[in-house]
Amino acid sequence: MDRRQHLGALLAAAAGTTLPLAARAQAYPNKAVRLIVPFAPGGTTDIIARIVAERMQSTIGQNMVVENRAGGGGTVGTLEVVRAAPDGYVLGMGTVSSTAANPAINPRIQYDPLVDLTPISNIAATPNVIAVHPSFPAKDFKGFVEALRRNPGRYSYASSGTGGNNHLLMELFKVLTKTFVLHIPYRGSGPAINDTVAGQVQVLFDNLPSSLPFIRDGRMVPIVVAAPERLAVLPNVPTFKEVGLEPVNRLAFYGFVGPKGLPREVVDRIHAATRTIVQDAGVRRRIEDTGSVILANTPAEFAAQIRAELEVFRRVVRDQKLTLE
Ligand code: GLU
Repeated sequence: MDRRQHLGALLAAAAGTTLPLAARAQAYPNKAVRLIVPFAPGGTTDIIARIVAERMQSTIGQNMVVENRAGGGGTVGTLEVVRAAPDGYVLGMGTVSSTAANPAINPRIQYDPLVDLTPISNIAATPNVIAVHPSFPAKDFKGFVEALRRNPGRYSYASSGTGGNNHLLMELFKVLTKTFVLHIPYRGSGPAINDTVAGQVQVLFDNLPSSLPFIRDGRMVPIVVAAPERLAVLPNVPTFKEVGLEPVNRLAFYGFVGPKGLPREVVDRIHAATRTIVQDAGVRRRIEDTGSVILANTPAEFAAQIRAELEVFRRVVRDQKLTLE
């Protein structure tokens, strides 16, 4: 090869490397991605979102910025995701409340979770828990139900929002146990926990990850959990199934969704990043320590879960004649 040929080869090689680089610069994502959490800080949606989002910079090369848009049992923030441009720069956390419970019970909901959202990957499934303030006159399931029966309407329970899974499952509990506890909805489990720990509300129905630290340090007492079997973190607490309330024994889930029509490239990129992030031992530990199960499943699997969960909640609402009134 003479000098000219050599130079030509160098130029060709340079062109070959600069082209993909230029293409890569435009590829998704080339700026920060906003992640809408449709509940207040301190709830499980916020906890799971932040554990994964903080690893995005080192995985997709851009920040994923968490924004809490609480209200309406998860529907306000979800509507913001639904209305966003489908370019991958506004994503959201899809939860049981926003994709199944609320759509099943709320006749005024302004989106269809099966049509208006693009499921990306379900990150984790979590147990649920009924917990009480330490001043509540019972510390176990039997005593709990007896206390409610002795004093119908005397106690109230806090939930993460109207029409959410915590609200619906507690209403189902009330129907099945023939008890009455007044519902007090919050803008997420974070504020619901605050008021329960402060003793303003005696009972809380929550997803376990947000409640567990308060249970561990004795500021709330766990009564019963929703989980396939007893949890290693709460070995003395029965499951709803054990106490004969299998219909209430349902998990919550938390995954990435986008508006409808999200390009395949975006879905694949975020799904792949999610899989990478949950392989990290530190991330796994933080999620699994709360009794949760990591899923990081495919878009098709997540879509099927949303569809199935919506069906379950529709049936519960229909069979038990639950309404928001
Ligand atoms: N209970 C909600 C759900 O699992 C989440 C509540 C929250 O994150 O504050 O759908």
